[in-house]
Amino acid sequence: MRAVVTGGAGFLGSHLSERLLSDGWAVVCLDNLSTGRRANVAGFVSAPGFEFREHDVTRPIAVDGGVDAVFHLASPASPPDYLKMPIETLDAGSAGTRNALDLARLQNARFVLASTSEVYGDPLVHPQTEDYAGNVHPLGPRSVYDEAKRFAEAMTAAFRRHHGVDTRIVRIFNTFGPRMRPDDGRVVSNFVVQALKGEPLTVYGDGEQTRSFCYVSDLIEGIVKLAGAPRSDALARPFNIGNPRERTVKDLAERVLRLTGSASPIERRELPRDDPKRRCPDITRARAELGWQPRVDIDDGLERTIDFFRQFLA
Ligand code: NAD
Ligand code: UDP
Repeated sequence: MRAVVTGGAGFLGSHLSERLLSDGWAVVCLDNLSTGRRANVAGFVSAPGFEFREHDVTRPIAVDGGVDAVFHLASPASPPDYLKMPIETLDAGSAGTRNALDLARLQNARFVLASTSEVYGDPLVHPQTEDYAGNVHPLGPRSVYDEAKRFAEAMTAAFRRHHGVDTRIVRIFNTFGPRMRPDDGRVVSNFVVQALKGEPLTVYGDGEQTRSFCYVSDLIEGIVKLAGAPRSDALARPFNIGNPRERTVKDLAERVLRLTGSASPIERRELPRDDPKRRCPDITRARAELGWQPRVDIDDGLERTIDFFRQFLA
């Protein structure tokens, strides 16, 4: 079995590539290194069956030889990244998704889209079920990411209906773990790095907004289960994959301080515009149809992440 992983040098893409290799797949990793790093694949870059290609997926994708599955993860993902690269983000979700789907169609390969909880925007339904259509501001700053992913889902659904491509859509909720970029600006990497450096932890707004944090190995297991499910019409529907335990940002800050033993103070910063107030996945569908649920406790996951950043900073 041979997979193409776009965004394979990123945080999630590198963990997925490594997991597929250990399951016996050959993996072609396509990445333009805009937010990813070669260091993420350094541990398995010379493993048999692994191939890294520097490629921008907004240009047509040609991969010779058989391909059984295309995992499309290429896109800036952290809010500061996509706000810095708004047009590139829209291009990755639109042209990039189209090119990845064209490859899957040509190769008669299974296609897995890495979508996001951000398709629900600032949700008015809680927890979010897959049937909820979302509350996205089409012109707000976050729309470059949210609408790109919504378009990517629409394109994926059209390729399934119109071309019969075997597609799957995973809506990923906030995931953390080793190989996040220390400066990518997401809350877990920010807090852990700030705590380890003895700098103030920057809590945006009053810190009462919530997220549901999933450890990376749980997320990857969910993606692998979804990709491995037998072809069926039921898979036309998207799957929420995330941890259903909702926590405030303030709780996360206090947890990171406790686990690092840091004496850093907590400092308030302005809440970014359109920052979702609450986010929590309803994972009933993934539990029932994929037999998946997260297993790693948040403190265990944070400890592994803290170890990673400790080594990285040293
Ligand atoms: P990341 O920034 O670490 O990885 C994204 C990768 O895509 C990077 O390696 C980057 O260089 C690459 N990339 C970006 N644009 C590209 C292009 N045009 N051509 C080729 N490569 C390109 O982010 P991540 O957290 O690993 O996210 C991976 C995917 O999962 C993204 O699609 C993201 O939207 C989705 N996702 C992640 C989370 C999360 O919590 N980590 C949540 C929801 C969705
Ligand atoms: N956040 C914060 N301090 C930071 C970075 C983020 O308080 O240094 C908040 C942010 O406002 C949001 C939550 O943490 O409410 C999650 O932010 P992140 O960028 O990790 O992901 P997303 O907003 O995409 O869920």
